[in-house]
Amino acid sequence: MPVMNTKHQDWQPVRPLSGGRWMGLCPLHADRKPSFLVDPGKSLFYCYGCGRGGDVIRFAEIYHDVKFPQALALLRQWRGGAPLLQQVADFYRLQLHRHGEAVGYLLQRGICSPQLIEHMRIGYAPGGCLRGWLRQLGYPLQALRQAGLVTAAGYDAYQHRLVFPLEGNLYGRSLSAAAPPHRFLPGSKGGLYAWEQARRYQEVILVEGLLDYAVLWQAGFRNVTCGLGTQLNARQWQQLCDGPRTVYLSFDADANGSGPQASQQLAHRLEAHGIPARRIVLPPGQDPNSFFVQGGDADQFQALLEAAQP
Ligand SMILES: [Zn+2]
Repeated sequence: MPVMNTKHQDWQPVRPLSGGRWMGLCPLHADRKPSFLVDPGKSLFYCYGCGRGGDVIRFAEIYHDVKFPQALALLRQWRGGAPLLQQVADFYRLQLHRHGEAVGYLLQRGICSPQLIEHMRIGYAPGGCLRGWLRQLGYPLQALRQAGLVTAAGYDAYQHRLVFPLEGNLYGRSLSAAAPPHRFLPGSKGGLYAWEQARRYQEVILVEGLLDYAVLWQAGFRNVTCGLGTQLNARQWQQLCDGPRTVYLSFDADANGSGPQASQQLAHRLEAHGIPARRIVLPPGQDPNSFFVQGGDADQFQALLEAAQP
């Protein structure tokens, strides 16, 4: 959050606090003793003097006395030009807590940890606002269509979806049962999710979906990764085989058998490459997400891990 640490005019922190936070003089009122708290990690500020606080956009709104779109445009100037997808992901992240339906959906899917939301950089696409914002930042409409962010008819491609940044793509999960649940931008879905973190472990848990990944990470499992579907692409397969490890597969226990079938095939393929694979057996009809949402805990999942069969 450049605006609140170094680049913001002449604001200087006076003293550090725990957790990487800072205190300084408030730029929003005539402050004599440091009463302005900044948390760069969370992009939040609060002033004990004038009682104002909020996120970085709120700060720009007050400081420059402008409305939301102008505040965003100013922030972008300070940040310098980030790549398009990062701009989009950042924009959607800022929307998340401004839309009750998005937070409500996260809770319904068992996601409540702010650390997790930060770790996965979860955002929300309300629809009907991305195109206007990016146009205001100077992106030509054609570029937005090409990236798949705007439809041929000119609408935001992601509407009422949670948004998860991937390498070179954005995954959009629909809040509504009426829309197709999963959406990606054109192009590759990228590699295994958060692989740099998971690959350090001797034992790795591979799940189908990001909401499965989320509940496991939140329950304390750091050796988890996600293939965004049951079929791995070449890059994901290569990653899974890039070192000695045991792979635990936890796909959906679908009634139609597609999850169990895919995990059996992948287990055989891994074993054929000399990589031990174990299949985690969930209660019928469940996936890791529903397992935790319905009251399962880390100990119970650990027991399923230990009971996993080749
Ligand atoms: Zn103040």
